[in-house]
Amino acid sequence: MPSTHALVLGGGLAGMLAASVLAAHADRVTVVDRDRVTDDGHRKGPPQTRHTHVLMAGGSRALDELLPGFTADLIAAGAQHLGLPNRLLVFTQSGWLPRLDEMQFVIGCSRALLDRAVAQRVLAMDRINLVSAADVVGLLGDRARITGARVRDRDTGTEQDIDADFVVDATGRGSKADRWLTALGLPAVREDRVDSGMVYATCVYRAPASAQDGFPGVNIVSDPRSMRFGQGGVLLPIEDGQWIVSLAGTRGGEPDITPEGFLAFARGLRHPAIADLISVAEPLTRPFGFHGTVNRRRRYERLSPWPSGFVVLGDAACAVNPVYGHGMTVVTRQAVALRDNLTRHGLHGRAAKQLQRRFAAVTTDAWDMATGQDLRYPATIGPAPSRATHLQERYLDRLILAATGRATVTKAQLDAYTLSTPLRRLLSPRVVLAVLRGPGRPPLTDPPFTEAESRVLADVQIEQ
Ligand SMILES: Cc1cc2nc3c(=O)[nH]c(=O)nc-3n(C[C@H](O)[C@H](O)[C@H](O)COP(=O)(O)OP(=O)(O)OC[C@H]3O[C@@H](n4cnc5c(N)ncnc54)[C@H](O)[C@@H]3O)c2cc1C
Repeated sequence: MPSTHALVLGGGLAGMLAASVLAAHADRVTVVDRDRVTDDGHRKGPPQTRHTHVLMAGGSRALDELLPGFTADLIAAGAQHLGLPNRLLVFTQSGWLPRLDEMQFVIGCSRALLDRAVAQRVLAMDRINLVSAADVVGLLGDRARITGARVRDRDTGTEQDIDADFVVDATGRGSKADRWLTALGLPAVREDRVDSGMVYATCVYRAPASAQDGFPGVNIVSDPRSMRFGQGGVLLPIEDGQWIVSLAGTRGGEPDITPEGFLAFARGLRHPAIADLISVAEPLTRPFGFHGTVNRRRRYERLSPWPSGFVVLGDAACAVNPVYGHGMTVVTRQAVALRDNLTRHGLHGRAAKQLQRRFAAVTTDAWDMATGQDLRYPATIGPAPSRATHLQERYLDRLILAATGRATVTKAQLDAYTLSTPLRRLLSPRVVLAVLRGPGRPPLTDPPFTEAESRVLADVQIEQ
């Protein structure tokens, strides 16, 4: 048998996970990334990596499937396991979720820690070779089959063609795969866009000494029923006793990235909990911003013909508004789909199109949640909502209200939010019935901090 070669374009989360999967099916796997990545996984990273990255339970479980013991290793390196709703306190549009025993969880750590942990595991695998500081500039092949890619060295400017039996595009939001395919004579791919104009601002803090072990994170969600634009924030405990805080606002309600503006924006959110906490913490960075959060999906799964030996994975195919925290989980679950498909059909199977359809199916819930919410803000640019959408919104509003007091609904909502169960479960008869019964008690108007946690604010203010 001739030796087989798989080529992965982009060495972000999607690219690294794809490489780890492909290593079981190809004799050699090459990952090409424009960034300079060292053997121990250190790199500058794409611009978004400086912002808060919540890893949902659904993503953590999928990562453990692909890289056994990964989450435990991450926790050992300082990442925080934040149980929901007991260690991430959520101010929903209808009030705070009660502090019940853990139903789901998220992992809190810097994106740099997560990426390094993934890269170290993957690059240590035999057969995987990384070409860093190199730009992918096009695909090789024709309408029927992709046979490699053209790569330009960032230092010398020299270009070389890399041949491969299977090529994965994982170059993220800025992927040019659509243009590369049309250059080979394929039809244009349809693109869906929903743009809320959301802007991010992020700052990292040292948590006060009294707020270290087990101190909860706080998530303040915007309320599309009463606001012209969305404004929310999250304070996430991460490694090294730090808090990473991201504030976000849609078009017309964007956050400011001066230190004073950042605090003022936090104070103007629907609840001042994040502002109170950051005003007693030590800033370790200046606030920095991020634009370009449009929901954008390219419908590669509908393109006909589709060339064999090629798939588009991760943000390159579908990037959702990051404020809902689902991108990495989607990527991870797509990598599981890649593994399952290759196990069934092998590298030479005629399964690329089928795989592309599977990737699209994996993104559907995250896409529906993000665009459904974003389209509720009047300044969002996107298709007009239908009557069915309005009915769904009314149901979801009731569901969120019921989740503030009825545990069955809280659990169902957190299962869907962490991408642990399909969104359609929110319509199961058991959940619908519980939603119709309502919360059964008035929602909490203040965060359910324990006495010790509330003292953090008081103690720090006294010390100052
Ligand atoms: C502000 C912000 C906050 C976010 N917060 C969260 C969150 O809380 N939770 C969550 O799950 N997700 C979050 N996301 C989404 C998450 O960052 C992405 O979904 C995820 O990184 C996608 O991984 P990827 O590998 O597909 O793309 P990327 O991480 O963008 O990786 C693409 C890689 O390709 C390389 N590359 C690009 N072009 C080329 C080229 N031409 N040649 C060679 N290499 C190239 C890049 O250097 C990069 O390494 C957030 C995103 C943003 C923007």
